[in-house]
Amino acid sequence: SPQLPLLAATGLNKTFGGIQAVKDAKIEVNKSSITGLIGPNGAGKTTLFNLLSNFIRPDQGKVIFDGEPIHNLQPFQIAQQGLIRTFQVAKTLSRLSVLENMLLAAQKQTGENFWQVQFQHHIVAREERELKERAMFLLESVGLETKANDYAGGLSGGQRKLLEMGRALMTNPKLILLDEPAAGVNPRLIDDICDRILKWNREDGLTFLIIEHNMDVIMSLCDRVWVLAEGQNLAVGTPTEIQTNTQVLEAYLGQ
Ligand code: ATP
Repeated sequence: SPQLPLLAATGLNKTFGGIQAVKDAKIEVNKSSITGLIGPNGAGKTTLFNLLSNFIRPDQGKVIFDGEPIHNLQPFQIAQQGLIRTFQVAKTLSRLSVLENMLLAAQKQTGENFWQVQFQHHIVAREERELKERAMFLLESVGLETKANDYAGGLSGGQRKLLEMGRALMTNPKLILLDEPAAGVNPRLIDDICDRILKWNREDGLTFLIIEHNMDVIMSLCDRVWVLAEGQNLAVGTPTEIQTNTQVLEAYLGQ
């Protein structure tokens, strides 16, 4: 029997004022895949991420994750189910250390006053030691172990993206939505970020859905790519199929 996708969304719609940002869109992400989401500026990619994670409520649509409907859950509940997202502009807390950012990400999210939680008081000693070990292990895997005690605010844009990925991994996710992991990143760090994504995918079986304008990144990482244009599904296929699809090329040229 064909394997059910890990994530399957259908009939998603979202209108802001007069603008229909997402129109009857669908997307599927297979388990253990690295799936791409591309499209010209303003195509609705980030809005689609917001709808999948319910950061913005869809006007209509269904989202099934790991066999369960999640479109009526709160974002923190969706994160608890194992669907986690990063943001185009990394939401690291600049006045906390890199390590504290990691530990905060692992906190049981209650949905209330999450950012105000004095997290030190909520972690018992053993749990704290284990969490710190895990945080340090993950910081090493994103190449930030030497920065553990530095303020996150002192990191470069690329390092913040790596920290965001580390933070996402602290939650033991099944699926990570990455919003432009290569944007604003020093080109020397981009290969590094790609290598780490591939490693987490191949070795740890993590599934990724990635918005990215850098086509080299899409080509080198993705098994399958969904294309949005003006809020609608335009195409889906392998990176090679997408790169030679005339409708896709026209959508980008028409920008
Ligand atoms: P980019 O590649 O430039 O990041 P995108 O594909 O992620 O673009 P979105 O950011 O999802 O596109 O935007 C899709 C459309 O919806 C745009 O016309 C945008 O102006 C509009 N839009 C998005 N969010 C809002 C909002 N909160 N309020 C009003 N309009 C919005």
